[in-house]
Amino acid sequence: MPAVRAAQLYKIFGKRASRAVQLLSDGRHRDEIGHLNVTAAVIDVSFEVRAGEIFVVMGLSGSGKSTLIRMLNGLLEPTSGSVEIDGTDITRLSGAELRRLRSRKISMVFQHFALFPHRSVLENAAYGLEVRGVAREERLEQARHALGLVGLAGWEDRLPHQLSGGMQQRVGLARALAADTDIILMDEAFSALDPLIRRDMQAQLLELQATLGKTIIFITHDLNEAMRLGDRICVLRDGRVAQIGTAEEILNDPANDYVAQFVEDVD
Ligand code: ADP
Ligand code: MG
Repeated sequence: MPAVRAAQLYKIFGKRASRAVQLLSDGRHRDEIGHLNVTAAVIDVSFEVRAGEIFVVMGLSGSGKSTLIRMLNGLLEPTSGSVEIDGTDITRLSGAELRRLRSRKISMVFQHFALFPHRSVLENAAYGLEVRGVAREERLEQARHALGLVGLAGWEDRLPHQLSGGMQQRVGLARALAADTDIILMDEAFSALDPLIRRDMQAQLLELQATLGKTIIFITHDLNEAMRLGDRICVLRDGRVAQIGTAEEILNDPANDYVAQFVEDVD
């Protein structure tokens, strides 16, 4: 069973773009009062993510990456289509069921770290477990362990602003690791970091993933980063899948001119 399965996902934004939106074969949309071209952020996207792989979603700004990832963890309801996490279609769950599944199975790492400024590094790393109701002693112990994994042993009592950007994002990663979910979603998690720090973080993520076997869905607008990290890469263009393949397949056998043009810029 794949860890995550997205099938024929559409997400259409717009005041009148509710259930009654009609999807036309040419990719346009007609809303219930007949307007064409309702804004679609994600159009007919399907893929499966295997347990233990890094699946990268790569696309330019505005291509629908964040919209897609928000549908994968149930923060946004798709206009149509399904999202299965370990075989459960989360689009059919109640709010409470969804929150329970999400806190057990999925962690997020955000571009701008999303740390609490007045809480210590340790408390920030323990936050995912706090949401799940894990007792204080246990969650601090798991958080301490996770901070060790990302190289932040000794920094537990500091506040986020006393850390560099790279270190703050390590806290974000430690929070996801402490929560001990099988799936980690990372939305442009390294995009705010300096190039050298960014390379360090990429290497560290690959190391951690090799030992911990997490299923990681990693979003980036940077094809070089996608190539370095992805077991497989999904290239999004204007909300649609342009190609899904390994770095080698995308480099050597781009599915279309759009992907080929990206590949020219790879280091
Ligand atoms: P990315 O993360 O790849 O930059 P997004 O998923 O944020 O792309 O956005 C995809 C498209 O959907 C963009 O055109 C964006 O303007 C539009 N969009 C995103 N969120 C909303 C929203 N809440 N309402 C209307 N349009 C939105
Ligand atoms: Mg985004």
